[in-house]
Amino acid sequence: MSTRAYNFSAGPGMLPLPVLEQVQRDIVDWGDRGVSIIEVSHRSKPFGLIMDSLRERIRRLLSVPATHEILFCAGGAASQFAAIPLNLAAKQSGAYVVSGHWSRKALKQAQRFTNPAVVTDNQDLSGLSMAPVGEWSFPKDAAYLCYTDNETVNGLLLPSLPKMPYPVVCDMTSSLFTGEVDWSSHDLVVASAQKNIGPAGITLLIIRRDLCDRETMPQTPIPLSYAELLKADSMPNTPCTFALYVCELVCQWMEDEGGVSEMSRRREERSKVMYDVIDSDPLYTSNLDPSYRSSINVVFQLADESLQDTFLGQAKHAGFHALKGHRVVGGCRASMYNAMPVKGAYALADFMRDFSKRHG
Ligand code: PMP
Repeated sequence: MSTRAYNFSAGPGMLPLPVLEQVQRDIVDWGDRGVSIIEVSHRSKPFGLIMDSLRERIRRLLSVPATHEILFCAGGAASQFAAIPLNLAAKQSGAYVVSGHWSRKALKQAQRFTNPAVVTDNQDLSGLSMAPVGEWSFPKDAAYLCYTDNETVNGLLLPSLPKMPYPVVCDMTSSLFTGEVDWSSHDLVVASAQKNIGPAGITLLIIRRDLCDRETMPQTPIPLSYAELLKADSMPNTPCTFALYVCELVCQWMEDEGGVSEMSRRREERSKVMYDVIDSDPLYTSNLDPSYRSSINVVFQLADESLQDTFLGQAKHAGFHALKGHRVVGGCRASMYNAMPVKGAYALADFMRDFSKRHG
């Protein structure tokens, strides 16, 4: 087998090797049953046990309180951008914090059905022109507040928000399981699986139980309705069984590795290693205010832009994959989700210093 690369892909992201090896076995013959894991009915007892275990592990890993339900839905976080207003804004519009690429998409989707308030709007996609939280205009009343704590494309991580008098919805697609969640200030958390939880194909929803009882807009599709998802045990249609099965293995891996506190420690170590190079070596720059820099998606530029393609080419050759920044912001981006070993960040930092010596 070839050596595995350090895969800095923004998503789908790297998965732990023991998980991939287990998948490799189960894809042909799942636990000596003579069938593949992807040939098993979602309604069968053995698959039901996977679902129970997955929910229990998520509850343990994230200390999800009894007030919140754990649901799974198809269609990615992008579909949740529609599901949120459809389910929660039948009577009143929501309010949106626009901090970058994904929160803007969430706002645009909500504008199709409702008239959302914009709490703050970060127009500058490549750098940082974020107004400080104290200057944001929160409406007195709203159906909910929606924000994205970690902007995957921009590499921008928001500080904790003040307590709100209405429900708070957060798109944690790139941050969930990389740190603790404060459940006293989060009523709905949504996250696509393909960064920290498993392969693409499933979205995790952790929702305060009573939000499932809100009157929905009449056009809400049944597979996107929170009440229907709850009623049908997250299976209003055939779910992506493969993704759910892999998510269970990834959650098991996270528990074995020391849980979310250990994931958070690794996240801080990896990003410190990266920002140390960016801040100390003149070949690399970051145009983000350090107080907003993401410790998950590290976005940086080469001071001499003409070297970028050479940098990316040599990095790939040396085993550091997918470092090209998102097309809307350009530059480079190292996405370091839970499965990225800490030594991957050290190795990339060494490569960057060496590249700078040769080309700086
Ligand atoms: N929100 C964030 C923060 C993301 O990073 C992404 C995907 N990169 C999305 C939403 C969209 O997720 P999906 O493509 O699964 O709909």
